[in-house]
Amino acid sequence: MTRTPTGRPAGARRRMTLKEAERFITLLAEAHPNAESELDFVDDYTLLVAVALSAQATDASVNRATKGLFRDAPTPAAMVALGEEAVGTHIRTIGLWRTKARNVVALSQALLDRHGGQVPHDRAALEALPGVGRKTANVVMNVAFGDSTMAVDTHIFRIGNRTGLAPGKTPRAVEDQLVARIPAPMLRPAHHWLILHGRYVCKARRPECWRCPATEPCQYTGKVLIAP
Ligand code: SF4
Repeated sequence: MTRTPTGRPAGARRRMTLKEAERFITLLAEAHPNAESELDFVDDYTLLVAVALSAQATDASVNRATKGLFRDAPTPAAMVALGEEAVGTHIRTIGLWRTKARNVVALSQALLDRHGGQVPHDRAALEALPGVGRKTANVVMNVAFGDSTMAVDTHIFRIGNRTGLAPGKTPRAVEDQLVARIPAPMLRPAHHWLILHGRYVCKARRPECWRCPATEPCQYTGKVLIAP
């Protein structure tokens, strides 16, 4: 556990004000002007599958697995025809691959049965698909349909709490705070700015505050301002 010089556990000094929250997001936006998803996909369907596979896995590992998977099965019908066992051989390097192989085939069948093989632009319909939870639905709605949703992954949950941007005990609580506190026009891209910031700068074990663009509004008491 990181501690402050007084020996206290490091954490957010307080919740950011709305002005500070806007400043924080603006500084991340300037640092990542071309931010977008790091998952490889070619359409709404391959996006949905890639996001469903990415739970507890890195985007790089998912991209390695989906290269062959999407070549063999680029559509829901082709995925169902490929079958669970063959899907499993493609994604065996990803965590929870057995469950994910079953879900990918089942969600493909559900898309054919309920939505004419299309990815629905509807939260409830997305969350009713096998293996699709709120986070996956939020990413698909954000990236595929341009909705102002906020998918809270491990990086965004950490940043929300560590910096005081959006403190909350659960991913849903952090999501609600972010949606309420980030100016509406910035909300959709903010998802990508926050993920990239958490992945490459505000890292889990030791945030690299010495090269962070947003130290000023950040309320973290354990900032590491000198590079080791
Ligand atoms: S890297 Fe450091 S200064 Fe930047 S947001 Fe994270 S904790 Fe705050």
